[in-house]
Amino acid sequence: MRVYVCGTRGSTPAPGPEFCRYGGHTASVAIGNSGGPPRLIIDAGTGIRLVSQMFDGQPFRGSVLLSHLHWDHLQGLPFFSAGDRLDSRVDVYVPEQDGEATTNLADVMAPPHFPITPSDLRGHWTFAHLPPGTRQIEGYEVTGREIPHKGGTTFGYRIRDEAAVVAYLSDHSPIVLGPGPDGFGPYHDAALDLAAGADLLIHDAQYLDREWPSYSHFGHSTASYALGLARKAGVARLLMFHHDPTRTDAALDLLADEWANERDVDVMAARQGDVIDLP
Ligand SMILES: [Zn+2]
Ligand SMILES: [Zn+2]
Repeated sequence: MRVYVCGTRGSTPAPGPEFCRYGGHTASVAIGNSGGPPRLIIDAGTGIRLVSQMFDGQPFRGSVLLSHLHWDHLQGLPFFSAGDRLDSRVDVYVPEQDGEATTNLADVMAPPHFPITPSDLRGHWTFAHLPPGTRQIEGYEVTGREIPHKGGTTFGYRIRDEAAVVAYLSDHSPIVLGPGPDGFGPYHDAALDLAAGADLLIHDAQYLDREWPSYSHFGHSTASYALGLARKAGVARLLMFHHDPTRTDAALDLLADEWANERDVDVMAARQGDVIDLP
């Protein structure tokens, strides 16, 4: 399994020279293998534009799993040029919620907010709700479960192929379930089940312990929580993800050095452009 980290940033893009190494694009991760371009994408933040570059002029034919419908996970969709062409196939999965999947997307992507609607995208696009549970998508075993996050239904995902397991909990607010052992939220069943024994856990690390008193109600996690979950779930590698848009490269370098000292889990700060081979 090969994981392409295309957008690492949370909340809003972070352009500028002080963000260029860890990247300014918002959340998008593609999953494939060494044999060809990816067929499964998680989230369509602005980072999904980088997925098109892997196709070298060829169309995308695959699926996009959305974790939820916040701007930073959706705004790249109409700019996904490998999908927006006549010969593409793009199946978009939206976590099950009220309404139809197409109208859920059109609430954000339609005039007067945006020039076109999802059904105006070129190629063969489908939009469907994904209920919680496990199913086969593009040859992967995909498990989606609802996890707490502020404002709308949010899924975490567990993706398995014959080689490896990756868990993706990019926007996660366990604090709404209680303080847990460290004051950052409990290690609840959905999070533990999704992450159990994963080769790679991609997790919300938007805030630091010292920032938590001001931001605990913003719908995200601390890096400490991500590390605690990785330990409890027996994860091999942890990718700190969904960086706060004010977190500069210099600040992330310092954090990455600290995280590299962890002995029992291999911890990395997500960088735009990372390609991670698993296991
Ligand atoms: Zn987000
Ligand atoms: Zn969100």
